[in-house]
Amino acid sequence: MTDTSAATAPITQDVLTIPRKLPEGPVNLVGLTREKLRDALAEIGVPEKQLKMRVNQLWAWIYERGVRDFAEMTNLAKTFRAELAAHFAIELPEVVSKQVSADGTRKYLVKIAGGHEVETVYIPESDRGTLCVSSQVGCTLTCSFCHTGTQKLVRNLTPGEIIGQVMLVRDDLGEWPEPGKPKNEARLLSNIVLMGMGEPLYNFENVRDAMKIAMDPEGISLSRRRITLSTSGVVPEIARCAEEIGCQLAVSFHATTDEVRDRLVPINKKWNIETLLDALRAYPKASNSERITFEYVMLKDVNDSDEDARRLVKLISGIPAKINLIPFNEWPGAPYERSDWERIEKFADIVYKAGYSSPIRTPRGEDIMAACGQLKSATERARRERVAL
Ligand code: SAH
Ligand code: SF4
Repeated sequence: MTDTSAATAPITQDVLTIPRKLPEGPVNLVGLTREKLRDALAEIGVPEKQLKMRVNQLWAWIYERGVRDFAEMTNLAKTFRAELAAHFAIELPEVVSKQVSADGTRKYLVKIAGGHEVETVYIPESDRGTLCVSSQVGCTLTCSFCHTGTQKLVRNLTPGEIIGQVMLVRDDLGEWPEPGKPKNEARLLSNIVLMGMGEPLYNFENVRDAMKIAMDPEGISLSRRRITLSTSGVVPEIARCAEEIGCQLAVSFHATTDEVRDRLVPINKKWNIETLLDALRAYPKASNSERITFEYVMLKDVNDSDEDARRLVKLISGIPAKINLIPFNEWPGAPYERSDWERIEKFADIVYKAGYSSPIRTPRGEDIMAACGQLKSATERARRERVAL
């Protein structure tokens, strides 16, 4: 917690040159871009010529070291630390509960301002640790196989709430380097996927700002190659994603005809398969990324035939791609079933023989309802289950 007792500390002239009206309550620094952090410091009177240095110093404490208390920022003058504490806070969303699956997957229920809740899932693997981050509370879209899609959109997450998920999981993993010690090279949290609750491209600016913080080499410093944004197909924002974020792109494809995709991913009625594919074709070059991940949920007798597999490879021909087959994760009341294992393997085989990598995503954290598409805030879930009784 931030020490606010310094609020009454005397204001020193060298720091506060011009008296200004400040917003009520401390401003949370977590989630501010470098430019906004600079503005916030200018606002409390940090002299112009010091701004760059101050931003760098704060950035390193917050995002490289994970420090939350201004008093620990030992390379800053005591009076300046007090000044910072009087105006600012360094706060993360609150972890309400944590569940650990038998396979090591960790699911965090996180409370954000207004009392809303989102879920964040950490998935450890032998060569990496992936954090599945939420970008919205609920979702405006209504994909018929997705549990989040049954929850109305409550609001967009702020950049601080998005990057805050990364930071709170690093807290839990104990992954902040201690001052003076070398940075931990083998990262426990090495990858981010924007595949939690919400449609990230419908919260573009906030997702972008948060990912810029994640990628900043002076802080959390994750390579843009280790960040994957998954979209249901918000076509007008795809080019922007390439230009302004430059991360890897995954697309929830899920069907090979407009008729089926309209039913599974209703945004297809707005931007159909052809329009989507055009936008995807341009992505790798624009973002200088290698290939696009096509996510394909395997739904029994809906989209899993040999014909579907053949149509799929034909549709994506010419696009550098990997096809990620996701066995459907069931949730209470879901209107679909998971395709049989042999069916999934046969489908994967056709795709593979056509020259595409076609991994079948192993469901993780199923025992704690942490798998893809099962996320929904616990209170919403409880409400729904009460209604179902
Ligand atoms: N809104 C974004 C990102 C979140 S969903 C999107 O739709 O891409 C992350 C992935 O999980 C998407 O590919 C989504 O289609 C898939 N998914 C949703 N519900 C699922 C379920 N019940 N079983 C398997 N995958 C699911
Ligand atoms: Fe929203 Fe993605 Fe779920 Fe569709 S699959 S309802 S876009 S979270």
